[in-house]
Amino acid sequence: MNFYVMTLFPEMIDAVMRESIIGRAVQNGLLSVKTYNIRDYAFNKHSRVDDYPYGGGAGMLMQAEPVWQTYEAICRDAGCDALPVIYLTPKGRTFSQDHAAKIARLDHVVLLCGHYEGIDERVLEEIVTDEISIGDYVLTGGEIPAMAVIDAVARLIPGVLHNDESAETESFSNGLLEYPQYTRPEVWHDRSVPEVLLSGHHANVEHWRHMEALKATAVRRPDLIDPETLTSQELEAVSDILKR
Ligand code: SAM
Repeated sequence: MNFYVMTLFPEMIDAVMRESIIGRAVQNGLLSVKTYNIRDYAFNKHSRVDDYPYGGGAGMLMQAEPVWQTYEAICRDAGCDALPVIYLTPKGRTFSQDHAAKIARLDHVVLLCGHYEGIDERVLEEIVTDEISIGDYVLTGGEIPAMAVIDAVARLIPGVLHNDESAETESFSNGLLEYPQYTRPEVWHDRSVPEVLLSGHHANVEHWRHMEALKATAVRRPDLIDPETLTSQELEAVSDILKR
């Protein structure tokens, strides 16, 4: 999987992508993250990429041409005529695990990070194929959202996580939040690990985890649960919570 990141701050992305699980995946060739500095494609002697918005108003906008030139350079490097481009913007669809799974199926994807008040609409119309927001708040730039997308997608690429199972049982993977988890010691601050987890009875453990995941989801994110799809036992376990 190849990510190409269009940004004014490539060092931000490069530093984070060298670390931890993502850094290891890059080193092992499971993932490539290449940054392109939009400023390198500025067409004036001061390397300016921003200008005042037509019609007035606060702040500056990134100009269309440097963004377009950066995109063309990426296409040349990738040996393609066109590539999917995701613009990170608070106006986009809120990022989700499903969205991450769809991106993980692509071979190449370009992430476009805005700054200032955003980017001239005309280049967005020409190259952007999808828009992602990481939440209903406004950040100073698209770099942190781009890194969030790369991280969430990378962990779905086979081989990136050491134990492939862990991505499959995590929150959202089956439409529920994750069940509570415990590690040693068995008793901590007078709190014991639930008996069933010590029983060695695999089916009972799985059942307990499923019911706990369902209850956690009913409490924290009832919007994720469609009561019509629940069995009578599941409905009985969460109906009081859902009524609150
Ligand atoms: N004027 C824009 C608006 O009101 O929608 C906000 C611009 S923001 C200050 C600058 C850049 O940060 C955006 O172009 C975008 O790339 C990025 N950004 C800010 N918040 C974001 C979010 N919640 N999700 C994704 N990208 C975001």
